[in-house]
Amino acid sequence: MYAEVIAIGDELTSGVRLDTNSQWLSQRLGELGVRTLYHSTVGDDLGANVRVFHEAFDRSDIIVCTGGLGPTADDLTRQAIAETLGVELILDEESLIHIRSMFASRKREMPERNTIQAMLPAGSFAIANPHGTAPGIQLRHEREGRNPCRLFALPGVPAEMREMWAQTVSPAIQELTGGRRVIRHHEIKCFGVGESDLEQMLPDIIARGRQPSVGITVHKATITLRITAEAESEAACLEAMEPTISTIRDCLGSLIFGEQSDELQHAVSKLLRERSQTLATFEWGSGGLLAEWLSDADEQNVFYRGGVVARSQSAVEAVLREINEANSSLEESSMLRKVAAHIRDQFSADYALCLGAFPVADGSTSELGELYFALATKGNVVVKSAPFVGHPDILKERAVKQALNFLRTTLISSSE
Ligand code: AMP
Ligand code: MG
Repeated sequence: MYAEVIAIGDELTSGVRLDTNSQWLSQRLGELGVRTLYHSTVGDDLGANVRVFHEAFDRSDIIVCTGGLGPTADDLTRQAIAETLGVELILDEESLIHIRSMFASRKREMPERNTIQAMLPAGSFAIANPHGTAPGIQLRHEREGRNPCRLFALPGVPAEMREMWAQTVSPAIQELTGGRRVIRHHEIKCFGVGESDLEQMLPDIIARGRQPSVGITVHKATITLRITAEAESEAACLEAMEPTISTIRDCLGSLIFGEQSDELQHAVSKLLRERSQTLATFEWGSGGLLAEWLSDADEQNVFYRGGVVARSQSAVEAVLREINEANSSLEESSMLRKVAAHIRDQFSADYALCLGAFPVADGSTSELGELYFALATKGNVVVKSAPFVGHPDILKERAVKQALNFLRTTLISSSE
């Protein structure tokens, strides 16, 4: 049983507004074990809508559409459905009473044009909209020699759409599928290698058609392995995924830093809290992102002592002057080494994690800049560097992740 999501509105096709409803609806359909094969987005044009509905009635078993149910001239979903099926729009008295009562409760007269919202294609039924005026539409379209296609049309306002989904559409779809299938996902998060290197470390589990399936995505240098199982219950999905999850854990070891919604700062937070240890930071290029992520991961204020954000060499020298170490001939790595030890002392922390300046390409050489990291522990400072290359959009977040991963791997190896 395949679904199609149709999002309707000029604000979507013109790029003014992002179509988040389709994403949300597909996720909910997936949870009910229904795979969405098509997303169609179409502007407020009757002919274009009719073409899209024609195709959808032909190629999909369930259609969920969103938008175009308002009272204004550009809202054409009801007309498009009626025209596609070759039926009339008929006034639904009950819907009209509801719309009138919505206006009355707001102490307003119902404008005549809102009557259109109570018009439904012949043969269809209203979907109640408790908090809005426009009812949704549901219908069953018979197809010769095949199972019928079910259509659910919902308003575009996300809050109304979600409520109507939960009250009416989701139960109806569960009845259609007999509630037999559910789909569950499990995500494993990795950092520290490239996507293809990581794939080579795994046996042949990314293959198409495999059950459970495994997909790899990369977002700002974090690699996510997404395992998906389909079965008759949530417990059966989890059981089906377990051997694949163990295989991945065995193959990737400490490249894995977390699961599901974990980020590197959560992994670091967990390790430090387990050890009752504390952390301070110093960052130069990343403008406070390291401090922000760690603060967010330390809601209870137990491990993150705080940090210093410098934006220039002179600001770093000011920190070094506090310990009479300011010297403009110092190399960056030596400066960072001294800063790390000082920040650790100043904040009375077990560790001080430092991130250096972001190298600026001056165009005069093809040489890549190096980004420096320093980690101070009791009586010791380790300095590392990594090439600072990649798309500008990912550089800052990746740098902060590299710093966090440096601390994470040090913590893990210190306990081995
Ligand atoms: P409509 O039901 O077409 O009158 O849409 C009402 C409002 O809901 C629009 O002005 C948008 O702000 C919002 N909206 C409509 N469609 C979507 C969509 N696919 N994703 C997110 N918001 C939407
Ligand atoms: Mg609209």
